[in-house]
Amino acid sequence: MANPRESELLYPMGDALPAAGSVLEIAAGVRWLRMGLPFALDHINLWLLRDHVDGVDGWAIVDCGVANDATRANWEQVFANHLEGLPVLRVIVTHFHPDHIGLAAWLTERWSGRAAEPPQGEASPLGGGDAAKPVSLGANRECRLSISATDFNLARLASGSTVGMGGEAAASFFASHGLTDEDSLAKIRGRASYYPSMVPAVPSSFHRLMDGLSIKIGAHDWVCHTGYGHAPEHISLHCPDLGLLISGDMVLPRISTNVSVVDVEPEADPLTLYLASLERMLALPADTLVLPSHGKPFTGLHARIDQLREHHAERLAEVQQACAAKPCHAAELLAMMFKRKLDLHQTTFAMGESVAHLNALWLSGQLRRSLDADGIYRFSAV
Ligand SMILES: [Zn+2]
Repeated sequence: MANPRESELLYPMGDALPAAGSVLEIAAGVRWLRMGLPFALDHINLWLLRDHVDGVDGWAIVDCGVANDATRANWEQVFANHLEGLPVLRVIVTHFHPDHIGLAAWLTERWSGRAAEPPQGEASPLGGGDAAKPVSLGANRECRLSISATDFNLARLASGSTVGMGGEAAASFFASHGLTDEDSLAKIRGRASYYPSMVPAVPSSFHRLMDGLSIKIGAHDWVCHTGYGHAPEHISLHCPDLGLLISGDMVLPRISTNVSVVDVEPEADPLTLYLASLERMLALPADTLVLPSHGKPFTGLHARIDQLREHHAERLAEVQQACAAKPCHAAELLAMMFKRKLDLHQTTFAMGESVAHLNALWLSGQLRRSLDADGIYRFSAV
């Protein structure tokens, strides 16, 4: 949902956006790029950080884009023109969603030095010009994936199967929360390969990121901040030196982060976890420049956190009220919560969000849950 208090945020870069295949410099050695996405949310922001690993100068990439030809072509343009002839040394991924981890396997393979020859698409060592500088990868150099262990393992699982992303389990989960329209359920059942289609592979080894871990990227230390409720173990990266927070999807300027219950963990309470994670982010300096995965870099982190808290408090109050008037299931709350026509993709997200609000109220003892004779969970006043 669009942010009604967006004017409280500042966009220091103005309306500037990096063009396809190009970058904008945010700070010395920190570059912003954008890749297209095949969803209603049509772009993702990715970041390049000047790096130094095992005695070699190069770049760290933060987040990857989905696995398709357009994104790969876009990356090749960036490699050719915006890396100053240096290699990519590691790939950091904030969480397991397809727009973030999609091309991780391709990128790490593309920049690992197992082969003696220069990587494909690279100009000949004899060619002149800046963009044509050869990049020596060196034998046995591994361009490693860094990610939380939970999201690494879930990505591995989801890429090789259909866990939590559609199929029969998702359809019966939604049905148990009142989505009974046969046509929608059939489509959800048919979406079993949704995740693997955008994440065909995940690297087989990784470097584990954990809350509080500080990693040296180039000349600066970046501290990992774990966030819950959007992904199982989302990592945001804060650089105190530069005053930057790569927030991933945990804090976005325009839209509220998706916080959903999904079929693999039907009794989860992601909303309470998400709000607690935001609370912890208030410890970061108020003047931090936030680099979000969607939208533009902004300052006003504390204001944005306050807005998100207010937004969810209002939602929770609405849901509580509706359930006090009569017992409600998640599907019948959609019209009240979203106030717009939703396509199937948006409906599944909205259902997840509706259950997240219901579960938060139920698990904190403010609503009662019952499984009725028709096989649907309804929530009512205690
Ligand atoms: Zn995400």
